[in-house]
Amino acid sequence: MSCAMDSHRRCVWVLALLLMASAAAHERPPFEVPGVNERYELVVPVVTTAPIVDGKLDEPVWSQAAQAKIVRQVSPSLGQLASLPTTVLVLATTDKLFVGFRCPIASKDAIRAYETRYDAPMRNDEQVSIFLDTLHTHDRAYGFTVNARGTRADSRFGNERWDAQWEAAVQVGETEWTAEIAIPFAILTYDPRQTVWGINFARFISDREEWTLWAFHPDRPSDLRYMPHLVGLPLTQKRNNDGPRWLLKAFSVADHTFGDGEGIGNHYGLDGEWAFRQNLALRFVVKPDFSEVEEAFESIDVSYVEQFVPDRREFFVQGSEFFSEVAVAGEGWRRGSDPNLFFSRRIQRFDVGMKVTGVMGDKRLGFLSAHNFGDHEHSFVVNVAQTFGTRGRAYLGYVDALRPTSFHRGLLLGGEWRFGGQGRFSLRGSYARHFSSDDQRDGGAGSLRLSYGDERWFVSLGWTAFSPNFRPFLGYTPRTDFKRFSLFAHRSFRPRNSNAYREANLSVYWRRGETFGGRFFDHNYGISGSITLRDLTEVSLGWERNRHAEYHIRPEPFDDHSLRIGIDFGGNRPFRGDIGYIIGRAFDGRYRQPFIALRWDKPDGSWRFRLEISQRHQTFGDGSRQTVRSREISLTRILSADKWLVLRYFHRSGDFTIKNFALSFRLKRQSGEELYLIWGDPRARQTRNRLIAKWIMPFRF
Ligand SMILES: [Zn+2]
Repeated sequence: MSCAMDSHRRCVWVLALLLMASAAAHERPPFEVPGVNERYELVVPVVTTAPIVDGKLDEPVWSQAAQAKIVRQVSPSLGQLASLPTTVLVLATTDKLFVGFRCPIASKDAIRAYETRYDAPMRNDEQVSIFLDTLHTHDRAYGFTVNARGTRADSRFGNERWDAQWEAAVQVGETEWTAEIAIPFAILTYDPRQTVWGINFARFISDREEWTLWAFHPDRPSDLRYMPHLVGLPLTQKRNNDGPRWLLKAFSVADHTFGDGEGIGNHYGLDGEWAFRQNLALRFVVKPDFSEVEEAFESIDVSYVEQFVPDRREFFVQGSEFFSEVAVAGEGWRRGSDPNLFFSRRIQRFDVGMKVTGVMGDKRLGFLSAHNFGDHEHSFVVNVAQTFGTRGRAYLGYVDALRPTSFHRGLLLGGEWRFGGQGRFSLRGSYARHFSSDDQRDGGAGSLRLSYGDERWFVSLGWTAFSPNFRPFLGYTPRTDFKRFSLFAHRSFRPRNSNAYREANLSVYWRRGETFGGRFFDHNYGISGSITLRDLTEVSLGWERNRHAEYHIRPEPFDDHSLRIGIDFGGNRPFRGDIGYIIGRAFDGRYRQPFIALRWDKPDGSWRFRLEISQRHQTFGDGSRQTVRSREISLTRILSADKWLVLRYFHRSGDFTIKNFALSFRLKRQSGEELYLIWGDPRARQTRNRLIAKWIMPFRF
């Protein structure tokens, strides 16, 4: 907001009016949402007798529940009626939210659900989900999912590594399956003064591969601003203090490599969370975990810019959703070409860490500090995000890295504003400035993007600039010194009443950039399309050309291009796979690369098998040739809902050989208890005779 000082008061007044207007006129879908009142609210009845969570919705108290109906599909026929409507029942007691789902089915055999492990991805399983925007910021939501086997998965504001204690049970009959879910308010982050939440429900009908959702706008099905309001929650009452407020996770790692004469390496540590208020939590770590036992097979890095490898350390992963504006953090967070100031892997050894995360009104807050006392290294990160009704949001980030002989600090400002009919236009921008005692790290970066989206089109026009010395000390900046315009357009095709195909997509992009000195930086463009047939076979085709300057290698730019074709078959059936072929040119050499990936899941969920084979034939600029082959096999035996065995084998030959074998036993419970027993070294280039045991033991009080 650029308000001159003298008109400041008037500006604030106009802004307040705007915000009030947007708060009053809530976004609504263009069709009726069964179950909401005229104010677009789902009013939850508060009852005194809690139902028993056994999957049967037979307790008399369910007759008092508010009732919603999921009647529309998001996919394959966006906005059309669902083939089977799902009934949702909602109740609350003073300390829990209860949700029941009645899911009609064609027959018991029509249900496909394989996953039995808590928090495992179950994209293709018959399932129901509840989404809760407890902050009512229309920006982030909790997700609670249960499949038709009763397997649970949860996430907080997009972070799937968040785990909590909640209950769910299912019952499968001949004409319907039912789910009964209880979510304690104590596990949720919310400001008790904010008594209106956003809520939504989804069901995936597995035999038809149909995603159905309660309330959404066909222009943007995932837009949280269309979530109806959940009102009537007993949140104004004093919080039930019986629930645990402390969660301590003690971990120990034992590591022994046979034959290197070093004996057993041992370390241990303590990670804790103190939920001292319903809206604020303190997290700390003493002797952090550096074992990286969880790390998957080493990714082979053949590129010339740094590749993004997510951090998996508990301290950084937990609560990372409160730092997603300032940081590329944890697993799954990665934000295109927007500037960021913090990448947690930049903090290596430290002794003590602390995090405060929480919400106040419509502000989301994160504060992090990490201290290495021996080397006098201290790092601080601040992230504050605020939404303005359903129209926009703004954020601020600050990072300070205090080092014994230098300083590095950065400031980030950004925001987003929606406008136009149905909020189809959005303007996003962010600017970061890094100040440093090192001239090579003293610079700024910014991005501005104007987008338009409706049911069929998404078009985005952007401008990004990274100054030559924008290299934040704790940030992730693979490339600097460019100013670039970009254009992206996507068109989706969904037949209304045709049996020819499920959907098709076409996208084009164009980007052109120059350096701050006015020299050529890059020029790329491409086109790609895909079509999904009724049986879920997907055929895709893409072509791109990428001219890019690498002045540290030579003055003339490289001229790369590639053409790829892929076929994805099997849908969510037990046997599925994809086959592809890429031909192209990179760094003056030609290459072609066929690949195949096959998957099989035993329908009862007890065995999983994956096989991936690829070959890359390369001809370099000097005429020399090389073939790189890689094979990966993984076999998983699910022993019970929380225990499984995985055997992995990876072999790569050609430029350099990697031969790796590992057998691991895993235990993961919803309580937070985890055990890793690994024979072999998943990160080594050669098979190693190594034994690693890691145990994470949670305590709640
Ligand atoms: Zn709202």
